[in-house]
Amino acid sequence: TGPAAGQRPSAPVVPGVTAIIAVASGKGGVGKSTLAVNLALALQARGLKTGILDADVYGPSIPRMLGLQGRPDSPDGKRITPKIGWGLKAMSIGLMVEEDTPLIWRGPMVQGALDQFLRETDWAPLDVLVLDMPPGTGDVQLSIAQRVPLAGAVIVSTPQDIALLDARKGLAMFRKVEVPILGLVENMSWFTCPHCGGRSDIFGHGGARDEALKLGLPFLGAVPLDLDVRIMSDEGRPVVAVAPESEAAAPYHAIAAGV
Ligand code: ADP
Repeated sequence: TGPAAGQRPSAPVVPGVTAIIAVASGKGGVGKSTLAVNLALALQARGLKTGILDADVYGPSIPRMLGLQGRPDSPDGKRITPKIGWGLKAMSIGLMVEEDTPLIWRGPMVQGALDQFLRETDWAPLDVLVLDMPPGTGDVQLSIAQRVPLAGAVIVSTPQDIALLDARKGLAMFRKVEVPILGLVENMSWFTCPHCGGRSDIFGHGGARDEALKLGLPFLGAVPLDLDVRIMSDEGRPVVAVAPESEAAAPYHAIAAGV
């Protein structure tokens, strides 16, 4: 008899990779990739050998955020050598296609590419591989959650109620495939005005913490809306790598400590 409905088929481990952690969100644009990159860098700063796999095949932004360009090498034409960005081993569909090529892929093709990136890239040895999931909770995401041997998932949302509703769907999805939720992160939590120092809760601060409490899940931390984070991301200079001691990097170190 096959596995019971909803039960997680045991995905084969990736040799030499101790733990794979997914970073997921209910919808796009909440800062999932920014968190994935800076969390990976903060884990690396804790002495862990860390990699990042960009599974956001519809909007692969990891190469830009890490300042990576050009196709990865494959000395034997079979195995892929990951690119190294700020010390992280990195792999992304964005390295294989032009950045502005629209990717109109069906689920099985996405899964095929990801399986290849996961199994045919020379990741080993790694303590942690951070997987930047595609935004949302549809079939593609569900299939990734089933087929990648995830140690756990971090869910990121903005404080807005509507985003939280979507994040809740993400929780349900990982529960269905029995992937433990490591916790919730609230991104764009507040904004400190660089001119007057006043603080504004642009999207309404605290929603994710309340939600985590309600659901009995760890709240891993809140990240403010920060102009430097945005500018540095776009320049391929992630804040945790470039200014590890800065105030802007601190929330990411705190989240890494809690994961
Ligand atoms: P997602 O992966 O959820 O689509 P991204 O990580 O690509 O989102 O972020 C969307 C945009 O928001 C990017 O321009 C990014 O630089 C910016 N951004 C994300 N988090 C923050 C933050 N805490 N402060 C400022 N800008 C942010």
